[in-house]
Amino acid sequence: MAAALQAIERFVASGRSHHVVTLDASMCVEARTDLELRRIVLEAELVTPDSAGILWAARRCGVRLTERVSGVDIVSALAARSPTTGITMFLLGAAPGVAEEAAARLQTQHPGCRIVGAHHGYFSADDEPRVVDAIRQARPDVLCVAMGIPKQEKWIARHRAELGVPVMIGVGGTFDVLSGRMRRAPAWMRRTNLEWLYRVLANPRKLRKVLMLPGFVAMTLKARR
Ligand code: UDP
Repeated sequence: MAAALQAIERFVASGRSHHVVTLDASMCVEARTDLELRRIVLEAELVTPDSAGILWAARRCGVRLTERVSGVDIVSALAARSPTTGITMFLLGAAPGVAEEAAARLQTQHPGCRIVGAHHGYFSADDEPRVVDAIRQARPDVLCVAMGIPKQEKWIARHRAELGVPVMIGVGGTFDVLSGRMRRAPAWMRRTNLEWLYRVLANPRKLRKVLMLPGFVAMTLKARR
């Protein structure tokens, strides 16, 4: 996490645009057949291990990664550091009202944290230019996009050039958690890498992701040979 935050702060200082991907096992599996997604992941300036599966796979492949670096943890850490770093954020995604609630909570938890805009993630193609314009006008250092995998990654890649934002991160269900609408798994479940189980129980739609895990295990075992 410390290395990821350092990289993100360096990206902001450079002023050029960077894509940060928070990678989980389901994205790896999808990127095997979705070539657009695969290119995006391979070309991202920073890819962080968002799930316990990625940590396990890295270890099997001889890469030592010490901890998960999830979207929700990155956004929280950036918000906590914002009063000192001066880094500004725009929250894009989730159902109407949720990004605003997440922004309000972050500002209460971290007085002086600079969130320069928020917008939901259910806009139409006709509305897209207006949303892009709102982000450009707000001139954030970091754009957090919470529209689910792979929609958020593709949206970032498609709009990267016109947005001109230094750091763009796909952060999945982060605003649902930060707004308080979706509770985080208890600490013991996070510690024992069981957060996924909590999420599936809370949201059966997540079962799709769990069903991808055998494919992920197979990929990892094959990659090792
Ligand atoms: N979402 C959105 N626009 C869409 C589809 C989804 O803003 O068109 C939001 C949804 O409300 C939720 C997030 O994207 O807040 C997806 O969260 P999830 O945890 O399912 O993400 P993933 O597991 O794909 O990272």
